[in-house]
Amino acid sequence: MYNRENYGNVKHETLDSLDRYATGGVPPGGFLTAVLENNLMESQGRADLQNRLTLYDITKYVYNEMPMGCHGKAGIVEEWCKEIRLQKEAEEFTHSMTTSEEECQKCDVPDCDVRKAEYAWKEGD
Ligand SMILES: [Zn+2]
Repeated sequence: MYNRENYGNVKHETLDSLDRYATGGVPPGGFLTAVLENNLMESQGRADLQNRLTLYDITKYVYNEMPMGCHGKAGIVEEWCKEIRLQKEAEEFTHSMTTSEEECQKCDVPDCDVRKAEYAWKEGD
């Protein structure tokens, strides 16, 4: 999660969506996609009241706190989501090939395959 100290007026759901997008590659919805892709008209048109009133702070958050490669031009949201997902898949694959079930007890991979495999094994026992 990025620094939220100066963005107290922005809905935390909006910041949560931005964080999930940047770190997890989760598509952020129409309004935030327009913001991230620098589409002024679309972002104004799709914003709910609270987001419209805090749009300046939202753009500041995107610009100051989020990774540079995840915003700024048309089409970038889909590209970023795809890239992050591929990256996560690669990480999870490496993890599953290099981690034993024992080590995996404390791993932080969500929905880890190594952990799942052990689960299945125990339940079938
Ligand atoms: Zn694991």
